[in-house]
Amino acid sequence: MILELVQKFVPLKVKTFLKPYFRLIFPNKLMSVLWITFRCTYSCSYCPFCSKQSNFPQQFPIECEKSGEEWIEALKKIPPTSFYISGGEPFLYKDLPYIINNLPDKHSIIGIITNLSMPISVYEKVSKKIHLNVSFHREFVNETDFIEKILALKNRFHINVNIVATEENFDFIKNKIHIFDKNEIPYHIDPLVDNANKIHEYSIEYKELLKKYLEKSRTIKTEEKLAQKIPKKCSAGRNYYNLLPNGNALVCSRIIDYKYSPFIQEEVDESACLGNIFDGSFYLNSDDCICKYDCIAHCDRDYAKISIIKNKVHK
Ligand code: SF4
Ligand code: SF4
Repeated sequence: MILELVQKFVPLKVKTFLKPYFRLIFPNKLMSVLWITFRCTYSCSYCPFCSKQSNFPQQFPIECEKSGEEWIEALKKIPPTSFYISGGEPFLYKDLPYIINNLPDKHSIIGIITNLSMPISVYEKVSKKIHLNVSFHREFVNETDFIEKILALKNRFHINVNIVATEENFDFIKNKIHIFDKNEIPYHIDPLVDNANKIHEYSIEYKELLKKYLEKSRTIKTEEKLAQKIPKKCSAGRNYYNLLPNGNALVCSRIIDYKYSPFIQEEVDESACLGNIFDGSFYLNSDDCICKYDCIAHCDRDYAKISIIKNKVHK
């Protein structure tokens, strides 16, 4: 409950500041990222799931997705969880409003990411005032239409805009970002990170422009060690898990990359898989795990408690 109140009433800047301390404040709170669909209305060049080179929508086609009723029945049987809903474009999954509106009381939703490409009428089916993280993709939408949609929805939801600093967004960030300020729409800018976890090589002019925004937003620079393949003690699988469109559960979203990404050719330990919530095989670990993977996903770092195991090198 406290977490939901924080989501509703605490300003974005404070929430961003508090994120690294999340597990200190809520050590045992059960969190999950629910990847309700990997289908998307866009195909962003840098997307690890839906770009032309990636193939998550083919690996998780609409046929593997479950109905809203099936999700609600399965969710009744699992421990109380705070869900962050992600994709793909989550609102492409047509029963999403049904799931949100009928979520068992023991669970809660801390936010949903959307690119806002669906018709307003789809969002209006949601009867709860939840947190929407709206991603802006200048290559697919113009700012006037995008802002009009936000203004139409801003009393129904708590809205925050995410912008990735792609080359295409340079002009927008330089000349038009003030439109969000003018309309009092909170936003943050993330650096562009490639599949090898490298921050994009920006021109001097772009770097200079981004300085003031990236300093205020989360960056990956402070936790570079976690991105190395050195052993880590991690609470993922115990107080944090990820659900896929077919109900399979994995400890974290980085493990989803390892298991399904065409850019990674490595086997995943079976211990990182937590069964399936539809066939009753879902379980949580009773202890922290020892992770040998490179940890690069923001959501994992937000929700898992991770610490480097000193004096050991993974080979
Ligand atoms: S909108 Fe989001 S999920 Fe869809 S292709 Fe772009 S980055 Fe990927
Ligand atoms: S350290 Fe990161 S990659 Fe490893 S299990 Fe934990 S969350 Fe996943």
